[in-house]
Amino acid sequence: MTEPEVASSDATNIQCRIERQGNDYVINGRKWWSSGAGDPRCKVYIVMGKTDPDNSSRHKQQSMILVPSDAPGIKILRALHVFGFDDAPHGHMEVELKNVRVPASSILLGEGRGFEIAQGRLGPGRIHHCMRLIGQAEVALEKMCRRATERVAFGRPVADQGVTRERIAEARIMIDSARFMVLHAAWKMDTVGNKIAKKEIAMIKVLAPNVALQVIDWAMQVHGGGGVSQDFGLAHAYAHARTLRFADGPDEVHRNAIAKMELGEQTSIAEALAKKRA
Ligand SMILES: Cc1cc2nc3c(=O)[nH]c(=O)nc-3n(C[C@H](O)[C@H](O)[C@H](O)COP(=O)(O)OP(=O)(O)OC[C@H]3O[C@@H](n4cnc5c(N)ncnc54)[C@H](O)[C@@H]3O)c2cc1C
Repeated sequence: MTEPEVASSDATNIQCRIERQGNDYVINGRKWWSSGAGDPRCKVYIVMGKTDPDNSSRHKQQSMILVPSDAPGIKILRALHVFGFDDAPHGHMEVELKNVRVPASSILLGEGRGFEIAQGRLGPGRIHHCMRLIGQAEVALEKMCRRATERVAFGRPVADQGVTRERIAEARIMIDSARFMVLHAAWKMDTVGNKIAKKEIAMIKVLAPNVALQVIDWAMQVHGGGGVSQDFGLAHAYAHARTLRFADGPDEVHRNAIAKMELGEQTSIAEALAKKRA
């Protein structure tokens, strides 16, 4: 979905064009942060672009289409780095699509349904990110406790310092709070569906990366200089967790959505109470 030339947190900005020509679609555009496209096992791309840029509904202009990774006209321009990590072989690629031709049957669901597909996929995708972040935070806390117990500074283990204990306790509270919110979101998705659970999904998508980042940051602090080195895995975990404050939707966009839903719910409650009183 994401393109270098436009703010892609707003998918209605997408510029990539998917045009029908006879029995084919022809695709022109440039994407970046195409995760996994660097892996030689990646044989198919799912590309989002506009089939009907003039449609009066901004959410019906986009479609998704399957494109073989070796189709003529596809060029991998480069692998983007995340704080210096290239995440090879998986990779996050910048990809040019120039007059790429695929059969018309490659369109997913039908023209104009790209937004609908994205909405359907992103909910489950987001909760999986959150689950992995809880795991990363848990590992960071484990490393923090181990290091704090073993490392002696100014005559006593770092774990004996009040500040370390405070952070260990806070980390445990934060991880478990996030875990229960993720469980609650998963339960809602299972019982009432992704659409109704969208507030819970948005809430954990903001909470989980921020919790993981704070816990990993404290773990790095306990490790001293080693914390930012390649030796303890914390720098890589931090870089990964940081990307999830904007990948699959920036915090701000999710907070806006949460506030909108909350305001809507509160207004409905106030209206229902006023009706009852009348
Ligand atoms: C490691 C990594 C992997 C990724 N993998 C993929 C992938 O596989 N496929 C894919 O399509 N994309 C992928 N992305 C891209 C990611 O989804 C986008 O970066 C994200 O959607 C934000 O789009 P953008 O970068 O264009 O930021 P922009 O849309 O330019 O936004 C920039 C900033 O503006 C602010 N902002 C935006 N909207 C609002 C608002 N409504 N209110 C307040 N502030 C706002 C936010 O602070 C936001 O971070 C990946 C990104 C990273 C870093």
